[in-house]
Amino acid sequence: MPAVACPIPGCEYVTDDLDAAIVAALIIAHTTTHTPGAKVDRVNRPVISAAGTSEEWEYFCLDGSTTSMPQS
Ligand SMILES: [Zn+2]
Repeated sequence: MPAVACPIPGCEYVTDDLDAAIVAALIIAHTTTHTPGAKVDRVNRPVISAAGTSEEWEYFCLDGSTTSMPQS
């Protein structure tokens, strides 16, 4: 059986050219790494509190999430 690539878009995992049963097992085992909540932390957007430092604000702006200080 030819090598099989991970079906997840953007993932470059590819199995070796092995027996079909082994390839299937490898793909199944690998795709569990894409399962939300399994072992991967949820990606959170940056959160800035009103007490945040100027350094945090600079980082937040560079991230493109906001371009100005909130009006409070
Ligand atoms: Zn993958």
